[in-house]
Amino acid sequence: MSSSDNPFLALAAPPLAALHPYVPGKPISELERELGISGSIKLASNENPLGPGPKARAAAAAALADLGRYPDGGAYALREAIAGYHGITSAAVTIGNGSNDVLDLIARAFLHPGAESVFSEHAFAVYPIATQAVGATARVAPARDYGHDLAAMARLVNARTRVVWIANPNNPTGTWLPARALRDFLAALPPTCVAVVDEAYTEYVQEPDFPDTTTWLGGLPHLIVTRTFSKVHGLAGLRVGYGLSDPRIADLLNRVRQPFNVNTPAQEAAIAALTDAEHVRASVELNSAGLAQLTAGCAELGLGYIPSVCNFLTIDVGRPAGPVNQALLQAGCIVRPVANYGLPNHLRVSVGLPAENARLLESLSLILRQ
Ligand SMILES: *Cc1c(COP(=O)(O)O)cnc(C)c1O
Repeated sequence: MSSSDNPFLALAAPPLAALHPYVPGKPISELERELGISGSIKLASNENPLGPGPKARAAAAAALADLGRYPDGGAYALREAIAGYHGITSAAVTIGNGSNDVLDLIARAFLHPGAESVFSEHAFAVYPIATQAVGATARVAPARDYGHDLAAMARLVNARTRVVWIANPNNPTGTWLPARALRDFLAALPPTCVAVVDEAYTEYVQEPDFPDTTTWLGGLPHLIVTRTFSKVHGLAGLRVGYGLSDPRIADLLNRVRQPFNVNTPAQEAAIAALTDAEHVRASVELNSAGLAQLTAGCAELGLGYIPSVCNFLTIDVGRPAGPVNQALLQAGCIVRPVANYGLPNHLRVSVGLPAENARLLESLSLILRQ
């Protein structure tokens, strides 16, 4: 429905007029219902094609016995497990219904009409949504080689800036920032803003210069690091993520947090996932092979792509990607168009199982030959 057709808009909070909902990847069930097909594949939401590991599955299943009770609102055991995993105090941990929830808590805690947030062109779509939803102003720095240009971002920071959003690595470009450059940027920010480093894909990155920002928390009190169980841990359907920060920032985030924002199976599965290093290792290995398969396939088809350290590859199809995406849907392949990220000729393809990657490349080859 367009805004002009909706009479309730006049009643709504003013920021809603300019707000467009986040567009998620199409569910397989929806595509198959629309086209009357079956056997389609979804490489659209950067999910782990292996799903959760055996420990997390067992923990979630065991938690079903207790669904009549509210979850532990303080998530004591999960916060202890996360704190133990990172070697920090549990007072630093804020849990979220996915890390998206934590990003939203940050916006609600620190942004308001008159305040500004800074992020990069092509950065994760939740930053503008979270900013606008609370009536704050977004300042968008131009990207460099599709990645964050930290100097350009620094130029947009002023006395009204309350939040700086950085995705490292970034979705949907798969680009990343090395430790030294990121640390220098964060250290130079004024004390009048917080800096969010969103690390949804950190476990996949194998670059030696990639930072472990969790070790910076003590020295950079304005830093908030966010992590998720949705990507390498394969728990996207349960919705659980967290923020790490100075406990005094966590205190503010917890003031706007819903008391029971993370359900019991999610808490239990997340605790188990943290102990399953083998599943993470196997998932990262599968991903490296899948990325190599996709980049080799692109090279064969003469297609460019943005080099990625993540579990997806953003491919330049060399023409407007909308019709290519439509043809892929007809062929039963769900990928993600990224025109809304300012990338009209690209498609973001999540790394799947080897057979799924092969099918995607084959369909792409047939479509682009036409
Ligand atoms: C997927 C993703 C997230 C988080 O997703 P949740 O499922 O809400 O934890 C956060 N940031 C980026 C950049 C992502 O791609």
